[in-house]
Amino acid sequence: MASPLDTKLSTALGGRTGSSFERNLGLRTVGDLLAYYPRRYAKHGELSDIETLPLDENVTIVAEVVGVQERKMRQRRGSILEVIITDGRGRLSLTFFNQAWRQNELRPGVRGIFAGKVTRYRSDLQLTHPAYELFPLDEDAAGERARKWAETPIPIYPATASVASWQIQNAVGVVLDTLPELDDPVPASIRSERRMVSYSRALELIHRPQKDADFGVARATLRFQEAFVLQAALLQQRARLRAVTATPRVPGALAAEFETALPFELTDDQRAVGEQIAADLAASAPMNRLVQGEVGSGKTLVALRAMLAVADSGGQSALLAPTEVLAAQHLRSIVRTLGPDLAARLRPTLLTGQLSTAERKKALLAAVSGSARIVVGTHALLGDNVGFYDLGLVVVDEQHRFGVDQREALRLKGATPPHVLVLTATPIPRTVAMTVFGDLDVSTITQLPAGRSPIASHVVPLAERPGWVNRIWERLAEELDQRRQGFVVCPSIGGGTPEDEQPETDGADADGGAERIASVLEMVDVVRGHPLLVGRRIEALHGRLPSDEKDRLMREFAAGRIDVLVSTTVIEVGVDVPNASTMVVLDADRFGVSQLHQLRGRVGRGSVPGLCLFVTRAEAGTLARERVEAVASTLDGFELAQKDLELRQEGDVLGSTQSGRRSSLRLLRVVKDAALISEARDLAATLIEDDPDLTRTPALAETLARRLDESERDFLAKS
Ligand code: ADP
Ligand code: MG
Repeated sequence: MASPLDTKLSTALGGRTGSSFERNLGLRTVGDLLAYYPRRYAKHGELSDIETLPLDENVTIVAEVVGVQERKMRQRRGSILEVIITDGRGRLSLTFFNQAWRQNELRPGVRGIFAGKVTRYRSDLQLTHPAYELFPLDEDAAGERARKWAETPIPIYPATASVASWQIQNAVGVVLDTLPELDDPVPASIRSERRMVSYSRALELIHRPQKDADFGVARATLRFQEAFVLQAALLQQRARLRAVTATPRVPGALAAEFETALPFELTDDQRAVGEQIAADLAASAPMNRLVQGEVGSGKTLVALRAMLAVADSGGQSALLAPTEVLAAQHLRSIVRTLGPDLAARLRPTLLTGQLSTAERKKALLAAVSGSARIVVGTHALLGDNVGFYDLGLVVVDEQHRFGVDQREALRLKGATPPHVLVLTATPIPRTVAMTVFGDLDVSTITQLPAGRSPIASHVVPLAERPGWVNRIWERLAEELDQRRQGFVVCPSIGGGTPEDEQPETDGADADGGAERIASVLEMVDVVRGHPLLVGRRIEALHGRLPSDEKDRLMREFAAGRIDVLVSTTVIEVGVDVPNASTMVVLDADRFGVSQLHQLRGRVGRGSVPGLCLFVTRAEAGTLARERVEAVASTLDGFELAQKDLELRQEGDVLGSTQSGRRSSLRLLRVVKDAALISEARDLAATLIEDDPDLTRTPALAETLARRLDESERDFLAKS
């Protein structure tokens, strides 16, 4: 039976309202509308603060009319009605053209909700073309009734220029009036234990509260429900992934030989994660594991051990890197780590878009015949024309560059679904991992191999210390004098166009972004022209160069023939040049916290100590400056990831990973609600373990099916 939540809004509210809500708010069904919660609540008795209204934004406020004036226009025929409203202190004027009749209702003393865009005209704040709804003048209401009226919360919805908050409120009212009792996706036992109200009651209270406590209770109930349904969905997906059969892969002679030849001891973490992976591979369900660990913590090595186990059982592994440069680098380091003998037997093969036709043909043949046990490439490996003989394992390096859809395409490449191992150097706080990668098992490598040199990080605050600019180049020159190499990283390429790979931050800074930010094309000349650096080989590297040129520069740098690379974030992930000791990041505040941390990982990779200088013009005390200081203050990626979450807008955290349009999270906040999310996950896990098909909780099963439908619709809309 269809749920009332699936009823189309055009059916429930009429075609005109239905299509307006779909067009303007993206709401299609009764369920969509009921999940469109008020952003905040106002009071009939409390006026909104006019002083703090943001300019040029649509606002919804409660105010009182204090004055009305009608004027004749000078140039043309007609009149202007000017209405002054107030919050008791500040004033705002409303202007209506040729609508003198409005003075009959907009009388001094009347209160109401007003909505429109706030603009400034001379020194006055104005609401242009405001929409409004007046509160009934309840003059004979006295005592208790008046007090109750003044204190009833008025829901304020995220409105748009074309749909006002009270139109949404009215529509919700119409829907709630006829809504039958809904089945609860959260089982009754859990609800009563957590003192939650029913789903229907929560919807009533969040949309039509009688007192403040009402929406508090409603939010708590709906927030937990959100966490619970999300975790149940992820856990069900995880169970589905594991329900298919995969080929078990068990290590043998090749893996043993590799192990014996390793010139170092594995770290404890590497060993532990290796055991988890070995257990996954030996099972007849496909592995779906995420391994997170700092740059240089030895993730690639762990993955390589898994590839050897797969090769031992006759299978092939594919390694996907985010760029061609990194794919080529991966191949070189795999060949080196395997040693000549194992490399000859496993035939690691590069398969990228850049190969010549002949090379490509050879690589394709090696993959499809099975003679290459390890194939390394970029997303080109996803192409339909790439076939494998027996694909047993897919390793995805740096997950954040690959979407779920791409992972899925790869999964379909083997005869039986391959095992999947995802590597990421971006530390993911536990609750984010649970929320975003909840369908994967997560392993963490926290130790770095012994003998790593520490990286010293410093902020160079040009706002207070403009004179330190010169010191930066002196430090760089000192390092080069010791036969080391360095990077100078800039947020933009220069030459008029922004770098395609924009920094993570939106660059909104205290001075409004009027200042020019450091660019590669300008800085390469500055660095080359510096008296202490003359005679050094300094090259520019950025995303607008042809890829073979980028490759060549990286190779030259790795071979020590270039002293300094002045570059954008193209050097961000995975570049491994042990002799590079120094990194100067210019306008560091233009980068995100995790991006700075990733960049820093490019130095201090060998035995030489790393030095990282974060240069910023941001003033002390600004958020921009705080982010940079946070990165300089610790090398602990997990601490930074947590900090990053706190400093960022929540939406960004999930924005790129959630499917398309609106994030499915409404009330839940991955940082603030960490404990709640864990709790919900445990409860959902127990439930699904006992009853995998959810036959005993049909309302939950139905809710999950509806979510799946939605994400399929999103997926179809995208492709
Ligand atoms: P990641 O992929 O996490 O950045 P890698 O696996 O590429 O790290 O390892 C970085 C470097 O450290 C490589 O040169 C690798 O050979 C080396 N390495 C890996 N594990 C160890 C270890 N246990 N002891 C010493 N060196 C190691
Ligand atoms: Mg790596």
